[in-house]
Amino acid sequence: MHTLPFADIPGNHHQVSPSEPTRVTSARTYRASWAGIIEAGDPQFQALAQAFEPPHRPAATFAAIGLESQEHALIWLGAPQVLTHWALHQDDGLPIAALNQHGAFGEHWPADPAWRERIPTTTWNPDGQGIVTELDFPDGDGRVVVYELLGKPAMLPAGVSRQPVGPVPVVTWHCTRCHSAGDTLDRYASASPAERREAARAARRHLRPGRCRGASARLDQALAAVDRVVTGRPESADPTGLYAAWCQTKTTGGCTPGMVSSCAEVREARTHTARHRMATCP
Ligand SMILES: [Zn+2]
Ligand SMILES: [Zn+2]
Ligand SMILES: [Zn+2]
Repeated sequence: MHTLPFADIPGNHHQVSPSEPTRVTSARTYRASWAGIIEAGDPQFQALAQAFEPPHRPAATFAAIGLESQEHALIWLGAPQVLTHWALHQDDGLPIAALNQHGAFGEHWPADPAWRERIPTTTWNPDGQGIVTELDFPDGDGRVVVYELLGKPAMLPAGVSRQPVGPVPVVTWHCTRCHSAGDTLDRYASASPAERREAARAARRHLRPGRCRGASARLDQALAAVDRVVTGRPESADPTGLYAAWCQTKTTGGCTPGMVSSCAEVREARTHTARHRMATCP
């Protein structure tokens, strides 16, 4: 499989299930992240073809394209000629009409072992660091930011049982309103759209009514108390906003962020995204 050039899709829109508002069912725009041709003579052909149910199960040499958005993924299977033709004319963008005519789209990328060996690892940002998506609260007060940074994941991708050596891209989320959510268990190793989908789903759950605690006077007061003990400074008049300010300065230690999300991490991710858009990051 060939990894295709990076493309961000800022401002993308996702549809959710009417009965399950945290479940994204499709995106307005997808990018193609990888593509390749599986030959009929490939020793793994049967294993790869069997990931698909009979009407769509390939019987001969076929092409596959992995498409993804920030919160969703599609796979296209079809005639190899469509892919070879597209490879020669990539500037024209994805040939949607030809893809529909000579193949079919399925939801999600196959996750069985044969496919896992073939599908390249993808992060949303080119170096696995940056903003993935931002979800606004319906009342306009604050937002939940899903982002990638290098670090130590708490949740590993399906089929992976061993902690990676050294920092790897981690996807998690942070609420700019209550600051205390997006905890350890929501730090997923960002290796495929499946993990980014999980992190974004947790973020969407936090947007649901009653989930966000909002700005917390209790946390502000607790921090003011700690400040008094540590610094010996007298009680500050009004502790409002102390916790939010502290969250902005939680140091992330370069490539190894702390175990909980913070506004400081969000800011670091934003810096990457800005640089990627100017193409000064790898
Ligand atoms: Zn924060
Ligand atoms: Zn919140
Ligand atoms: Zn970067």
